[in-house]
Amino acid sequence: MHCHSSRRQFLTTAIACGGALLPGPATLSAAPREDRSRAVLAHTIGVDMHNHVYPAGTEPHRGPQPAAPPMQTPELSLADELRQSGLTAVCAAYVLDFAHIEKPGDARERFLSWLTAIDAQLRKGRVRRALNLKDLESAHRFRQPAIVQSVEGAQFIEGHLDRVEEVYKRGVRHLQLLHEQDDLVAPLGDVNTGAAHLGGLTPLGADVIRECNRLGILVDLAHASHETVLAALKVATRPVIISHTNLDTFAGPDPKMHQMMMPRLISRDHAKVVADAGGVIGVWTHLAPSLPEFVQSIKAMVDAVGVDHTGIGSDTDLLSSRVGQGSNRAWPGLNGGFFNAVVAEMLRQGFTPADITKIGGGNFCRVFGKATA
Ligand SMILES: [Zn+2]
Repeated sequence: MHCHSSRRQFLTTAIACGGALLPGPATLSAAPREDRSRAVLAHTIGVDMHNHVYPAGTEPHRGPQPAAPPMQTPELSLADELRQSGLTAVCAAYVLDFAHIEKPGDARERFLSWLTAIDAQLRKGRVRRALNLKDLESAHRFRQPAIVQSVEGAQFIEGHLDRVEEVYKRGVRHLQLLHEQDDLVAPLGDVNTGAAHLGGLTPLGADVIRECNRLGILVDLAHASHETVLAALKVATRPVIISHTNLDTFAGPDPKMHQMMMPRLISRDHAKVVADAGGVIGVWTHLAPSLPEFVQSIKAMVDAVGVDHTGIGSDTDLLSSRVGQGSNRAWPGLNGGFFNAVVAEMLRQGFTPADITKIGGGNFCRVFGKATA
């Protein structure tokens, strides 16, 4: 997660200057490729490894007061929106350190009440939480979209290791240990956007990884410093992911944007160690001002870590029906849903159907299956 408004402005500018880079509807609907796209989608459990889909009224807020409710336009159901995107599932990440945390206890309370709000939305929207690989497979088979319950920053733990099991019982199966702020009581490790001051992974951070491995929760090392990641990989007994990032060598067209995002990007070596441990790295949409450039950045990641270790982590909210929040449709002008468009563009740029199936979700399914087995 990062500041969406600056991204929107950036995108507006980028599109105004380079709209020709976006594929027109004619390109996307060329008949033979559409058939191929459909075939790939039918065989692919599409998963967005990092998504901020917030059912209305459950958004975290940063200020001292709860944010005004977002302006609403007539809403599709969560299930409809997921279906329209072409994805089978999204990892739905709550950004805990944006949730007005002032004192110990706040983070746990915020997270639990968010999970309660999601429970209600899932009942209403006929969307299920995927608790294991089988759930993802049947979500795909029956075209019933699912979320993998996630959190961006595990500040709810506050030194209480048993809280990992508490949220496991509430359906959390994907835990990103770190975001921007340290846990108020007992930090888990150094992040990549601040000065290192914890020596990498803390002993509690190591315990949290062991606890996730014991319970069956996928560990996500996005936003972790290089030292934190190296230490985490020594502890982890199951593959981990970095759900959303780009290679630091992938230069978008805007040097300022690239500079701003640099701390959140990773080196080839950083990516390699995660891949060598069986993990997957989700490619971010945030540096690519257009769909073709996004697919180019996927290509760059495949070149670095291989086709078995690359995934997609959009860091968008997917939903186009709400005004005033979120950054989707990942790129203005995108027709036919995020994942549908990504698959079509990957075909156009020469990815094989088998590779698209892996990158589009197969790799995530592999590590999710191992993590939750
Ligand atoms: Zn993030």
